[in-house]
Amino acid sequence: MKTSLLDILACPDCGSPLKLSVFEEFSGGGNDVREGLLLCEGCSEIHPVIEGIPRFVPNVFLRHPDFAKKYPQVAGASDEGTRRAFLKAHGSTQERFGFEWMNYPGPLPEDREVFLAETQVPAGDWKGKRVLDAGCGMGRYSRVAHELGAETVALDLSHALERLSDLARSSGRLHLVQGNLLSPPFRDKVFDIVYSVGVIHHTPSAREAFRKISRLARSGGTLSVWVYGAAGKFSDFRTNPLRPGRAGLKPVIFWVWLTVKIREFLSDVLRLFTVRIPGKLLYLLCYPLAFLGAVPGIRYLTFSAHPLWRVRLQENFDWLTPPYQSHHSKEELGRWFEEEGCEVVKVLPHGFVPKPGILGRKK
Ligand SMILES: [Zn+2]
Repeated sequence: MKTSLLDILACPDCGSPLKLSVFEEFSGGGNDVREGLLLCEGCSEIHPVIEGIPRFVPNVFLRHPDFAKKYPQVAGASDEGTRRAFLKAHGSTQERFGFEWMNYPGPLPEDREVFLAETQVPAGDWKGKRVLDAGCGMGRYSRVAHELGAETVALDLSHALERLSDLARSSGRLHLVQGNLLSPPFRDKVFDIVYSVGVIHHTPSAREAFRKISRLARSGGTLSVWVYGAAGKFSDFRTNPLRPGRAGLKPVIFWVWLTVKIREFLSDVLRLFTVRIPGKLLYLLCYPLAFLGAVPGIRYLTFSAHPLWRVRLQENFDWLTPPYQSHHSKEELGRWFEEEGCEVVKVLPHGFVPKPGILGRKK
């Protein structure tokens, strides 16, 4: 953790500034902290810096018991009640996505193109900007933002962001923070661009997560978010923005809507079971789906038709494993932007399955 990060960090519980105690720096110095402690000047809660990453998750010492043994002064961090409440609400999401993204076969050559298309922010607009990747997973898109010249802060609930550690150590422009989108450990209005690519629908409340991350963008700054689409009402669905290559769906849009509606129902029924299956067993069950994903005619019955089988494996798992998965219409997402004081600049076009995405500007 670069000490300069302190200028934008804040206590996730009360929003007060944090005081840093450095236990150990990385060799070579450069104000890059390997182990330390962040103390809230308001509520006195403490958060450790472990292996260069500030960790704002109450169960951190379950994964890092050696740190707690080495530094007894952290013993008072997060009482048992807080830890239990966190594990109940987020433990499964953290564990399942952590496992998924540690196994994801990336980064991939397509990441840059997908990232630019899905955030809708032009390639030339990243350089020199301070950017938040809200829910970075293993950091495939944080890498792209960093390559495009942004000072990038990658935030994730799981430990999968450790896959960015080497890059963060060698760059002065990449920061890793483990924390929760529902209580982001940052001061308000400190980012030029906040983006969240397919993440907030995996929190207990996508609306609340949207509210929390939208506050982090400065006035005049950019907020780009996409969420899983809902079939919703036909009157809304028929006006969804289609990609140019998918304009042929227009004359049969009613049948598309009906198919999406049925698909949504079947997926909800299936997920009643899959979210209860232990993560690693479910992962094994996704192997046959990954192979079926290459079979013409059948592939669209699975949850991924990606050309690489290892990506299909992850994408099937990604659909079936998360405890929370909410779906939203473009109208709903548009209302969220309006309610949080953001003007809608661009709407994301998509294909058969709706994918509400908006690029907005904070007023
Ligand atoms: Zn505090």
